[in-house]
Amino acid sequence: MEAAISGTLKQLFETRLHSAMRLYLDTCARCGVCVEACHVYASMPQARYTAVGRAEVIRKIFKRYFKLEGKIAPWLGEVLTLDDATMDQVSDAAWSCTGCRRCMTFCPFGIDTQLIMSIAKALLIGADKEPKLLTMLADMSIAKSEGIEETKPGFTRAVEDLAPEIRALWPHSKDPVVTVEAEGADVLYVALAGKHSIIPAAAIMNAAGERWTLSVYEAVNFAAFLGDSKKMQLIARRIHDEAVRLKVKEVAIVECGTAFRAMKYMTGVHPFKVVAFVQLISRYLREGRIQLSKGTLKGTLTYHDPCQIARNGGVLEEPRHVIRHLTADFVELRPNRADNWCCGGGGGLVALGESDFRMKSARVKAEQMKASQAAIISTACENCHSQLTDLNEHYGLGMKVEFLSKLVADALMK
Ligand code: SF4
Ligand code: SF4
Repeated sequence: MEAAISGTLKQLFETRLHSAMRLYLDTCARCGVCVEACHVYASMPQARYTAVGRAEVIRKIFKRYFKLEGKIAPWLGEVLTLDDATMDQVSDAAWSCTGCRRCMTFCPFGIDTQLIMSIAKALLIGADKEPKLLTMLADMSIAKSEGIEETKPGFTRAVEDLAPEIRALWPHSKDPVVTVEAEGADVLYVALAGKHSIIPAAAIMNAAGERWTLSVYEAVNFAAFLGDSKKMQLIARRIHDEAVRLKVKEVAIVECGTAFRAMKYMTGVHPFKVVAFVQLISRYLREGRIQLSKGTLKGTLTYHDPCQIARNGGVLEEPRHVIRHLTADFVELRPNRADNWCCGGGGGLVALGESDFRMKSARVKAEQMKASQAAIISTACENCHSQLTDLNEHYGLGMKVEFLSKLVADALMK
């Protein structure tokens, strides 16, 4: 590696050394409590797949350049110099971590390995070794805002064509069944690419009599996976500006954990409320604005808590409140809520498409699903839904994988 590049990487590292990060890098007691907490290690027991093992890669670079002992006596070991071999280790650590933060809840010091991995991802971007697909997807999201006025009429027409499918779920939907960026709405709903993320949500909001409108943007924030904080802000800014322009009171994020966490917790303060769509459904039920039929669902249901909505977003009880209105035949995954096993597809792994590691590293998840003996597994995150679907197939679990919003829309009492 050229000296100029390693110099740049060192500077990049330094920009991430805020007080919490220094504490995380200085504190680890190597007690190993986090080891079994990581689904990757639990499924593939190798030291490199422990939380502490991943963090050690970054900690050794930290010691080499930012601690006295590493600066004056690097030959004493326990340090890593920024070179190509080290960057391979950095890449292995960063892209085998889904950023689920389960390890953090077990660590007695609350060390946030995901945050430590944000240094790893920043270094990889600096060395031009990040996954280029995620960079391309993040750049496309940013570029979309620049040409939005040209694409908006086509998008609006395509969305209007969904009216029959929305009316099939909620026949009392008034015209227009869906509006795009309508002024005067209370709620801005931000969907994903694909009508499956619009139709059930539209039926539910119409049934609740919500004054809502659809964003022209997709909620997904590929830069959050990539660990590029500048691009993450730019992607979130498009939705922020749209919501401010439309003067909505609330932004409801489609069933996508990273999109929700990025918008609510990682991109500054907004002058509107940000909710996960499952929270909106729970509120409609509490306020008596929608009623559900308990007869629609056949078979035992379970629920997978998406890491970025549950453990990292605090949305734990709302999905269970919704499920109580859907069925009496519900069984919890064990463990669940903030302790739930990650699905194994987070942190951009589903978007990257590779499946061998994803399937092997989520063996404990598949075992947990199987042990529930449920016929249907629901979730409130697109990424988790994709991963659970792949696990279901790979491990031959024979379950149905459903979005919670779809189950709710199917059960709306007409
Ligand atoms: S539990 Fe915390 S202190 Fe113990 S090894 Fe893991 S990160 Fe370090
Ligand atoms: S954040 Fe999740 S995947 Fe990453 S080290 Fe911790 S438990 Fe493992």
